[in-house]
Amino acid sequence: METVEKLTRTLKSHGLKLTPQRLMIFKILEDNISHPSAEEVFKRVKKIYPTVSFTTIYKTLETLRDLGEIKELIIDEDRKHYDPNTKPHHHIICKVCKKINDVFEDFSPHIKLPDSMGSEFDVSCFQISFHGKCRNCN
Ligand SMILES: [Zn+2]
Ligand SMILES: [Zn+2]
Repeated sequence: METVEKLTRTLKSHGLKLTPQRLMIFKILEDNISHPSAEEVFKRVKKIYPTVSFTTIYKTLETLRDLGEIKELIIDEDRKHYDPNTKPHHHIICKVCKKINDVFEDFSPHIKLPDSMGSEFDVSCFQISFHGKCRNCN
């Protein structure tokens, strides 16, 4: 996820417009390191656009994901979370308070497929999710 100008161009190249809701979601996610869920994004948009529906928010998040502007994280079994940082990185999640933090570490020297599978797959990326309890919850 980069600038509003870039987002406008990306949307345009897909025949889409920068609607107030799309801009709002962009602003909420911009530089957001809390990995909000669709529900959390919805609550914040609703404060400014009380008539907005959850479906609109969810569809907008899906559009931004499909355009490669945001990443959808499936590391919490209860709900999807969204990450504006589309660069490769990993996550650590607290089982109690559900807080998700980024882990910026290159694990690639340590992680590889078993040789038997390595010949069948050409791996381009991987994501690691660490699960446990944060200091506050411990
Ligand atoms: Zn916690
Ligand atoms: Zn992240």
